[in-house]
This record gives sequence, structure tokens and C-alpha cells, in this order.
Amino acid sequence: MKQLFIGAHISIAGGLALALDRAQKLGCTALQIFTHSNRQWAFKKPDTQTIKHFLDTKKITGISAVAVHTSYLLHVGSTNDALALKSQQGLLDEFDVCSDLEIAYVILHPGNGHHETEEKTAQRIAYALDQVYSSLMLLNKKFIPYLVLETTAGQGNDFGKIFEHLAAIRDHMKFKKHVRFCIDTAHIFAAGYDIHDYEKVMHQCDKILGLSNIAVIHCNDSKKELGSHVDRHEHIGKGFIGLEPFRKIINDPRLAHAYKILETPVEDGYGFKENLEVLLSLKQ
Ligand SMILES: [Zn+2]
Ligand SMILES: [Zn+2]
Repeated sequence: MKQLFIGAHISIAGGLALALDRAQKLGCTALQIFTHSNRQWAFKKPDTQTIKHFLDTKKITGISAVAVHTSYLLHVGSTNDALALKSQQGLLDEFDVCSDLEIAYVILHPGNGHHETEEKTAQRIAYALDQVYSSLMLLNKKFIPYLVLETTAGQGNDFGKIFEHLAAIRDHMKFKKHVRFCIDTAHIFAAGYDIHDYEKVMHQCDKILGLSNIAVIHCNDSKKELGSHVDRHEHIGKGFIGLEPFRKIINDPRLAHAYKILETPVEDGYGFKENLEVLLSLKQ
């Protein structure tokens, strides 16, 4: 049987390696973390001992499927030059750390569309990402993480609400072979993809992004209706998406390689453990 990579967004409180222990206790075979507080610019790179401890704990727990979600502050392609440069440095730091921790996937929200044409926005973001990869290459790292572009709900002027946006960013990049994608079920649903028509959505996704390039799937039900453009995550099976699309995702051999990561709400008595049980119960 093929391995199922499934887990949740896990806290690193107390130390990076503790996230792996927490994931193992929950029964995860994959996890997502922040490398530092996701709403702060301040970035303290882990020391050699912390890196070694994390790598050792990966071996001990047997969990090697780790993704990093970058800070929500990053807008690498912003028209505000200061913010763009700060964000590019922030992303470079994330790549640097993930390279040391041997984490393959670095997830990024594409950023704001700035009321420019889609083409121009895609070009601007692609150029920024190429700058970051160019700088990363100068660091002569052994391990080069993939950049994983995430779909958005299309709230406000967020870029990335249609698959074509993400494809356009990749296509404009020189370092395009390092690009993969993350689909968030709640985001694509809020953006207007009716995932109840599973084959239709997957066909579009395959044609535009390539299903083999989907590295991560954020498995979240949605508190909001189809096409609402509002990003509110709900427990699996309790929102407008319901169980069926998740059953299809979990059992789709074309997506077997993708990490399935929960970002569902954590409430008293109902959190990742319960949502994980629901997802696993759908496995055939
Ligand atoms: Zn995200
Ligand atoms: Zn979201």
C-alpha cells in the first residue's frame, strides 16, 4: 500500500523538534510548521544544535514529510519597494533555514494584485521570486527547497484565486523547476471552484498546474459558501464542502504523493485529533 502523508499544522512552541513529537502523538505522517512567529518579521535562525536535534528527531519519529508555511507578512511582489525587499529577505531566510532543516516545501501566498493587470502582477511576483532564488544559490546550500505557491480565496485583491494566476507566476520564472503548488480546499471553494464536481475541478487543476506538481493540499472545510471569497476554515464535514470531496482527495491515486494538511479550527474538545480521525475514516 502506498503511504498516506497526512497531518496538521503543528505548533513549534518550546522548540522546532517538539513539533515532530506532537505530530507523532497525534498520529500524523506529515506536518506543517511556522519556523518562527508568523506575524513577526524578527527571525532568529536556529543554531547548529537545534538543527541537529530537528534532523535527529525526524529520523526517530520517522516523519520526514514536513512543510513550512511562510509568514503572512511576506509580499514579495509588492509595489511598495521597501515591503517587497523586506519580504524577499524574509523568504530568503525561510529558504536558508528550511535548507538546513532539510524541509522540501516552503509555502507562500502570492500576495496582492495591486489593481494591475494579472499579467503584470504575475511578472512582478515571478521577478521577485527569481531574485530570492538567485540569492539562495549564492549561499551554496546542499539542499534546495521547493517554493510552493498557495491558492487564495480571492479576498480583497489577493492574487492566486484562480489556478491560472499561479501558473502565470511559475511560467514567468527562470527558476520555474523549483516551483510546486498548494491547494487549500476552503480557499478554492470560496474562490468559486465547486469541488463537489470533483473531476471537473481536478481536470482544470491538472491542465493548468499539473496534478503531479501539487505538493500540499490544505484540507479545510469552509464556513462560507461557494464563491464567497471569504476565507474561514471549518472542521472537516461540518461546513459547506462536506465529507465527499475529502473522500475523493484522500483516495485519489493522482494525489497520493501530496501532503494532506489540516488547518481546521482548534476548539475545546474538538481539534486536529478529531479531524484527523474523520479524514482517516474516509480512506478506502
Ligand atoms: Zn496558507
Ligand atoms: Zn485559509
